[in-house]
Order: sequence, then structure tokens, then C-alpha cells
Amino acid sequence: MPRRMDFSELHWLLAVVQSIDVGIVVLDLECQVQVWNSFMENRSGVASKQAIDCSFFELFPEVERPWFTRKVGRVVALGTPAFTIWKQRPYLVHFKNYQPITGQGEFMYQNTTLLPLRSSNGEIHHVCLVIYDLTDVAINNLGLQKANHQLQQLSRTDHLTQLYNRGHWEQRLQHEYARHDTAFALLMLDIDHFKSINDRYGHQAGDAVIKRLSELIHVHLRDSDVAGRYGGEEFAILLPHTELSGAQSLAERLRQAAENQAVLHNGQVIAFTISLGIACLDRPARDHRCLIEWADQALYASKHAGRNRVSTYTP
Ligand code: GH3
Ligand code: MG
Ligand code: MG
Repeated sequence: MPRRMDFSELHWLLAVVQSIDVGIVVLDLECQVQVWNSFMENRSGVASKQAIDCSFFELFPEVERPWFTRKVGRVVALGTPAFTIWKQRPYLVHFKNYQPITGQGEFMYQNTTLLPLRSSNGEIHHVCLVIYDLTDVAINNLGLQKANHQLQQLSRTDHLTQLYNRGHWEQRLQHEYARHDTAFALLMLDIDHFKSINDRYGHQAGDAVIKRLSELIHVHLRDSDVAGRYGGEEFAILLPHTELSGAQSLAERLRQAAENQAVLHNGQVIAFTISLGIACLDRPARDHRCLIEWADQALYASKHAGRNRVSTYTP
């Protein structure tokens, strides 16, 4: 038999509940507040005297009543606790975040626990809501996620063109090849006589031409197309769900767009053209690299035939 608590021990317990750095709210089955500790007073600005016997939903209109009532009902019926986690539900009750150091989040991120409270005869007529302030953890965690995301973006992206770099582009091709169920096409393109652009106007002018071409590629593509910088002045574009005719018309539009561009660099107007090669996955291929070889052969055919043109791979 547990020993009965004397009055002074009860007094201590109350002091603990008051001073603890988590929110404690005891609710009856109608969700009327019965206990409201000082954490709740400080964060809500509502004194215990005012909160007691108030409806929880009047104090916190942001809490979805049917959802919370169901949750309380389950805790009472099963006699087991229920939880909310900040990652799924950032907060239960809206408290302003006024942590001086982090100062980033606008509100207090919370984990909460809803505990059944048994009376001496074993019946449950009350539940205890415990609110934990998880703002520090959440801010750090979200910051880390953001940094990871930025790092990932950075490691995939070619600095000069902001297109995917070769490594990531090949991964995407491999992925698309593995799951392809419809036609898809590959386009490789290369700037014509680029070495002489460098020689004549300088390396920075060459960079400006590469940049302009990548912008052209960017505006001509659909969201689902995947463009990468394959080499110095060579680009590769993966076209999912695309038949040969679609790839050919995109290639021709790109060719014309390049031809009609003039890059202005240090007062000099630089014209350039591109050659393109297309491979279509309309015949069995060994693997995804096979497609690159095909497109590359088609590109070579364009160069060989005089440049500034589009060729399609034929075995
Ligand atoms: P072709 O028409 O046969 O493609 O001739 P090309 O001169 O374009 O081809 P080649 O492969 O001989 O020359 C490519 C040049 O591109 C060589 C290299 O110095 C230059 N290059 C590679 N990367 C960059 C870059 O990032 N910036 C600049 N400015 N030049 C680059
Ligand atoms: Mg070239
Ligand atoms: Mg080249």
C-alpha cells in the first residue's frame, strides 16, 4: 500500500509544478482548465485565476476543437497517453517565441503529451496536458536541413552555368534510364570553333558565350527536361517523354536561337553557332552510357558535315 502523502509534501509538489519549465494544464472532460502553472501564465499572459474554469478552446481558439476533443476522448477511454511532435505539428497552442538568443522562430515549437489522470477509485475524469518548448531544437534542426539542402544544390551545380554538373547529370540519366517506360531522348550540343572564340576575344569572353548558351538552354526547356554541362563547351540535355520529332524540333529551335544571338563583351559583338546530336531510346540500348555514345556520334556527324546543324543517330 502506498503511504499517504502529508500536507507538506503536497505543498512541495505544487511548488514543483509551478516552477518547472514546461507547461502544465489539467483539464476536465469538458476541457475546462483546472490547473494552470506559471509557465502557462508567463507564456500566455493569462493568470491562473482567470484561466481556471475557462474553456481550453476559448483560451486557444487556434486549437481544432473536434480533433482535440477526439484526442482527449481516446486518452480517457484507453487510459494511455497521447503525443504531438513538433516535426508533424509545429505547435499545439500559439505562443510567441521570445527567446532572446535564437530569436529566429516566430512562435514556440512544441512537443506535447496528454496524460490520463486517475482518481483514487481508478476512474479518469481529468487529463494533464504537458507542453515542452522545443524551439531551440527545432531552429537548429531546420537550419541544419536548410544548410544540407544548399550544400547538396551546390555539389550538383556547375558554377559558371548554374546547370547540373556532369556527375549529377549522369546520375539523373541513369535514374531515368532505369525507370523509363515511355520514349525519351538525349541531346548533346557543342559550341562550334570555340577555341577560336577564346583565342580571338579572350577566355572571359568565352565564358560569357558559355553562360549565354546556358541561359538559352534554360529558357527553351520544359520543367521535366534535365540539362547539364557535360564538358567545357559541351552540354547534354535529357528529354523525358519525348519522341524523336519532339527532340528534333527542340534541337532546331536551340540551333536557331544560338545563331541569332550576339554576345556583347567589352564592346565587342561575338556571334557563335552550335552543333547538335540526338539519340532516341527507340531501340534496345545496352545501358545509359550507350545513349550518350549515340548522341555523341550524332554530334560528331554534325561537326563533320560542316557544323551549325542537327543530326540524329542512325546505327
Ligand atoms: P569544334 O567546333 O570542333 O567543337 O571546335 P572547338 O574549338 O569548339 O573545340 P575544341 O574541343 O578544340 O575546343 C574547346 C575549347 O574550349 C578548348 C578549351 O580551352 C575551351 N574551354 C573549355 N572550358 C572552357 C571554359 O570554361 N571557359 C572557356 N572560356 N573556355 C573553355
Ligand atoms: Mg566545340
Ligand atoms: Mg567540345
